[in-house]
Amino acid sequence: MNFLRTIFKPLAHVPKYTEHEETISSVDNPDTVVIPLEYPGQIYYKSLVQEGDVVRRNQIIGRSELGNCVHASISGVVKEIKPVWTARSFTVPAVVIESNKEPALTVDEMFESYGVPFKSASQVEKLKASGVISPWTTPGKFHHEEEMDGFPEVKQIIIKGASEEPTVFAFELLLQDKVEKILQGIRKLNNIAPNATIWLTTPKRLAEWASEEFGESVQVVAVSDEYKHRIERLLVRNLTGVDIPNTMSYRKMGVAVLSVEYLLAMVDALDGKGPFTSKYMTVAGNRLSKAVTVKVPIGTPIRTVLESQGLADETYARLLVGGPMKGIAQYSDETPLTKSSHGLYLMSRDALPDEVNLTCMNCGRCTRTCPINLQVHLISRYVEHNLLKEAKQFHPEVCNECGLCAYVCPAHRPLVQLIYMCNQYKEQIDEPKE
Ligand code: SF4
Ligand code: SF4
Repeated sequence: MNFLRTIFKPLAHVPKYTEHEETISSVDNPDTVVIPLEYPGQIYYKSLVQEGDVVRRNQIIGRSELGNCVHASISGVVKEIKPVWTARSFTVPAVVIESNKEPALTVDEMFESYGVPFKSASQVEKLKASGVISPWTTPGKFHHEEEMDGFPEVKQIIIKGASEEPTVFAFELLLQDKVEKILQGIRKLNNIAPNATIWLTTPKRLAEWASEEFGESVQVVAVSDEYKHRIERLLVRNLTGVDIPNTMSYRKMGVAVLSVEYLLAMVDALDGKGPFTSKYMTVAGNRLSKAVTVKVPIGTPIRTVLESQGLADETYARLLVGGPMKGIAQYSDETPLTKSSHGLYLMSRDALPDEVNLTCMNCGRCTRTCPINLQVHLISRYVEHNLLKEAKQFHPEVCNECGLCAYVCPAHRPLVQLIYMCNQYKEQIDEPKE
């Protein structure tokens, strides 16, 4: 997946604060949505529908072994179930729904199909039935509920009111727009995890306002507009004092991290306001004068969002889902947007280097820039020469894929991709088991 991370000219555009629209606009329901049924390594939903079925918005169309659900985000007819490319560049089965503009299912109807009436459902059942994977559970494909018993109590919670990518404004606009509902969500978190410390991150420019609005309920943390101060794993480490590598879930260390958007979805799920079927995301680009944040039904193809902003015919060299630092380049603008697609970034040709993956000139910039002091130049060269075991001695597994090393590399080397590749192949270089 991250092989598609983009390499761009160092300093060609600095990933920091971007001008943006201060309001969120809605995109009309698309004629077709595509709902992926699998998120590899995380969750697999067994389809509950088949070709030709008529479905209504909010209807549960897939369910995981642990009872987590995925829903139709528009009403319509299931045209087909077929493999599609997801925004994270996996091919997975997906349900294609063509709109018929029928009304949505009510919450009671949805819970009836889940098998537990809303009134008697537990909090966890409400979240699972509504497609909100609680940050205090692990939803994985192969997890069983009892495995959670060994996990520590959640003692630290971080609510992200500022996105890691400085070109994504969805979280901070929601923060300003939904104050009362966010406060409700914080009260719910206090009930669910009574012993937890809760932090709320906010962009620096909103810090004073956020402290007034939320300061009595949570610890408000101002984050800079610069990407290097927003990298999530590092922010989590700085706040909680717990160093959690990229390969480990926060939950295993008693930490829960959720976005403001997820908190709002949680409030809706627990209050019976409906499942998580639409998503906020910011469209930005190095040639766009202003970023725009929109609300779209989950499963909307990228192209529909671009059309809604008059950008479908725009020429750009890379289309990223996410932001410029961690975003994933897409093969096609037909790719559907999912719950984890927080941004779209359009990158113009002149932001990309003419040549990439040149020979390392041993300048050391990558290593000096790495926020966790990895010997990036050594790891990348070992991997390049297929010396994976040697590369592993330098602990590439702790890399948080922030992309800063590649950003400063004058040879435009695909450093994150090389590290990622090394980590993916780790099974093959481990010592054989007896
Ligand atoms: S190796 Fe590169 S991507 Fe990984 S943490 Fe260091 S700077 Fe970030
Ligand atoms: S920044 Fe690029 S060229 Fe310089 S040492 Fe690192 S990999 Fe080599």
